[in-house]
Amino acid sequence: MTDVRVRFAPSPTGSLHIGGARTAVLNWLYARSTGGKFLLRVEDTDPERSRGELVDTILEDLAWLGMKSDEPIVYQSERLVHYRKIAETLIERGAAYRDYTTPEELQAMREKAQEQGEAAFRFRADRDKLRRGEFSGSGAHAIRFLALDEDVTFTDGVHGDIRFPGTEIDDFVLVRRDGSPTYHLSVVADDYAMGITDVIRGNDHISNTPKQWLIYRAMDWQPPCVAHVPLISGPDKKRLSKRHGAASVGDYRQKGYLPEALFNFIALLGWSPGKGDKEIFTRQELIDAFSISGIQKSSAVFDEAKLVWMNGEVLRNLPLTDFVASLRFYVTPPVEDDYLEKVAELLRPRLTLPSEIQEKGSYFFQEPDEWDAKGRKKHWSDSKLPTRLSQYITALESSEEFAAEALETQLRSLCESWDISAAKLIHPVRLALTGRTASPGLFEMMEVLGKSTCIRRLKRALSEL
Ligand code: GLU
Repeated sequence: MTDVRVRFAPSPTGSLHIGGARTAVLNWLYARSTGGKFLLRVEDTDPERSRGELVDTILEDLAWLGMKSDEPIVYQSERLVHYRKIAETLIERGAAYRDYTTPEELQAMREKAQEQGEAAFRFRADRDKLRRGEFSGSGAHAIRFLALDEDVTFTDGVHGDIRFPGTEIDDFVLVRRDGSPTYHLSVVADDYAMGITDVIRGNDHISNTPKQWLIYRAMDWQPPCVAHVPLISGPDKKRLSKRHGAASVGDYRQKGYLPEALFNFIALLGWSPGKGDKEIFTRQELIDAFSISGIQKSSAVFDEAKLVWMNGEVLRNLPLTDFVASLRFYVTPPVEDDYLEKVAELLRPRLTLPSEIQEKGSYFFQEPDEWDAKGRKKHWSDSKLPTRLSQYITALESSEEFAAEALETQLRSLCESWDISAAKLIHPVRLALTGRTASPGLFEMMEVLGKSTCIRRLKRALSEL
């Protein structure tokens, strides 16, 4: 059996969105699961729509998701001569012709067809003449494939056997009047040249396949196996778009999502490893479970809430040093590693995104600039609080061991001596230290903040009471 060779072939006309990334992920998983090769090809033949800087962004986003080309990246813009040669070969074989119709004539032909009530305008010049290479005209011209009326059949890895009526395929352009190749020509030329064995791509390409198969047939080339993956829709069943929060991979990357979480999420969009309810997989587990037959026939639903959840799960399970590393970028002002590690341990259960560290743990990095208004009303209105707080500060000042357990014993025994519940002091102290009414365990937090910070903040709160 030939070794599997698959490709992901982005057109650099936009950034890498979730749909594109899903195609890349499925190809990558297939390559890895079969010991084959995953290749990248940049489809930049359209100079007007392709943007150089997007190529870098797309490649960086792919690399961030852990996907790199196993061979040098192919750039279609560097292969124009090659496509041209194939178009000429198709002409020599009587499978394509030079078409001198001007855009104006083309427009008039379309309008006429419409007036006559034809569903679609079709090129039907004298086919025998065209096949013999007898073309009329001179100057600028397109090269068109001479479509046959024979049906095209292929077996799709997702949808099974598909038959496409030849009568529905019009003579399609291979090379435009400006000399640029069309997608159909370049994709077939390159898939063949790169030895691609399997094409896994979005369902939006399914109607392109018959045309491409005609080119393979005319060139006497064996077409690859093909699998068209159902598109992704939003929860409202409409095609996925920005409206659904479905930003580009780069946007998720910027927001601090973890590549492993996004990879996991994307892999499960319309593909199931068949492991019951389990949803968090390592990359290796995904590779081991991958098969094209696990791809669903119906469209996958994009659920951003699930991605958020997955990211939290993956984040919480990272080894501590990796977790800390993921947070560092979001912490201002910068803090020592040891300190961040302690903060990370405390906040880990509360974070779903590394970027949340600044918002959820701001008091670890800066003095709270205000105290929650509701909290003040609820926890700071007891007239005895100032006296108690000042006694507590005195006790803290003389405490030798500033560790969670000792701090807890100290606070509780103080409250006992006043004959009040510990909560009566815990809540006001938390508010004073963090400005908030909720935080990780008070004593663990105090240990991390340290003695001088705690005392300073308590004194400041006391002056506010
Ligand atoms: N460049 C095409 C796209 O972005 C790839 C088509 C293909 O995979 O055949 O959709």
